[in-house]
Amino acid sequence: MQRDIYDEDHEAFREVVKEFIKRYVTPERSREWDAAGEVDRDTMRAAAEHGIVGLSVPEEFGGAGMLMDYRFRCVVNEELIRSGVGSAIAGAFGIHDDLAVPYLAHFGTDDQKRKWLPGMASAEVLGALAMTEPGAGSDLRGVTTTAKKVDGGYVVNGAKTFISSGKTADIVVTFVKTGEGNRPDAFSLLVIEDGMEGFDHSKKLHKMGFPGHDTAELTFTDVFVPDENLIGGVPGRGFVHLMMNLPLERLSIGAVAGAVAQAALEWTLDYTSTRRAFGQAIADFQNTRFRLAEMATTVDVMWAYLDRAMDLYRQRKLSAEEAAKVKFWCTEREWEILDQGVQLHGGYGYITEYPIARAFLDARVHRIYGGTNEVMREIVARSVTGRK
Ligand SMILES: Cc1cc2nc3c(=O)[nH]c(=O)nc-3n(C[C@H](O)[C@H](O)[C@H](O)COP(=O)(O)OP(=O)(O)OC[C@H]3O[C@@H](n4cnc5c(N)ncnc54)[C@H](O)[C@@H]3O)c2cc1C
Repeated sequence: MQRDIYDEDHEAFREVVKEFIKRYVTPERSREWDAAGEVDRDTMRAAAEHGIVGLSVPEEFGGAGMLMDYRFRCVVNEELIRSGVGSAIAGAFGIHDDLAVPYLAHFGTDDQKRKWLPGMASAEVLGALAMTEPGAGSDLRGVTTTAKKVDGGYVVNGAKTFISSGKTADIVVTFVKTGEGNRPDAFSLLVIEDGMEGFDHSKKLHKMGFPGHDTAELTFTDVFVPDENLIGGVPGRGFVHLMMNLPLERLSIGAVAGAVAQAALEWTLDYTSTRRAFGQAIADFQNTRFRLAEMATTVDVMWAYLDRAMDLYRQRKLSAEEAAKVKFWCTEREWEILDQGVQLHGGYGYITEYPIARAFLDARVHRIYGGTNEVMREIVARSVTGRK
């Protein structure tokens, strides 16, 4: 189905992204990132030079000023994922632009914006967001990383886990306890910087998918963080800030799911039209034709839903509950399409040389992170039933 959310600026930008991919996101580079477990900084800087990273940084700080318009980011995801070798770098871009930059751009003090955003626009300063702990994921109010107020700042102790870009990040927006109990005002966000004494973010975790994008454990041992690094300059606002960025976080995962589903359909169409069995193309079996028809229709519905959600986000009308629906519904459809795509590839669908196999492994986490799909359903159920 024809989509109509993009105009000529987006299509011109798409060409820039394609050129960037041709030059920098090659199968060789992708294999290097997989082996290293991270995307190299030079490529991130090159992406910033092409205007592909730093999209959400306000223009006055050197970015593209697209914080409230997800369409350009969606174009980046579509093209990187379609390339079949761009998932790691798509992840690195997403964490930076969708998860880290917004906390500074929306809630940072003027000094904080001046200090970090220009570097985030040029990818000299890469960001990550650390909420999850070994003992608390879905139940964020159960976090135990504490930031104790001392003269001139905070002393942080605790640990975070599963942090995307956690090793490569220069600054980590970190959810900490600054008060007693678990009321929303007991939490704050601190910017913890690479090199701060007592901050260790060197331990990478080995995952079933996304081998080229680092996911790390972080530990904080008596880390002194100056008052200037408290986001917004007022303690007790961390929980509210997290809640305010949730629509974008969930929309972004849904949009990636749309791009993956689209790519999975295209790879499967290609494969089944060339692979032959019993004297005919796989694509000519009635079963394949029906499955492809279902996949194509689902992809259309996903984009219709996602495009509307992007529209609402642009108008600042996408609620956390609507975004929760988008996140769980799109990632569930993505999973079904990938599974069907793998099946139609036969044995080759299980071989990681094929993009469908890698996408299948990468996508498993989409139903887990950004809030699990069970938690998303809980949020939606609460909003539709009015019952806790
Ligand atoms: C690759 C990867 C990257 C990640 N990146 C980041 C990151 O950058 N920053 C960050 O902070 N975190 C990140 N995470 C963490 C992720 O957001 C959490 O793993 C997720 O929120 C779930 O938390 P948990 O793992 O503690 O699971 P748990 O909360 O222990 O959940 C276990 C199971 O219980 C279910 N469950 C929990 N509560 C309920 C409920 N109320 N009702 C029904 N079922 C429930 C869950 O759905 C799940 O099935 C990442 C995780 C992974 C795997």
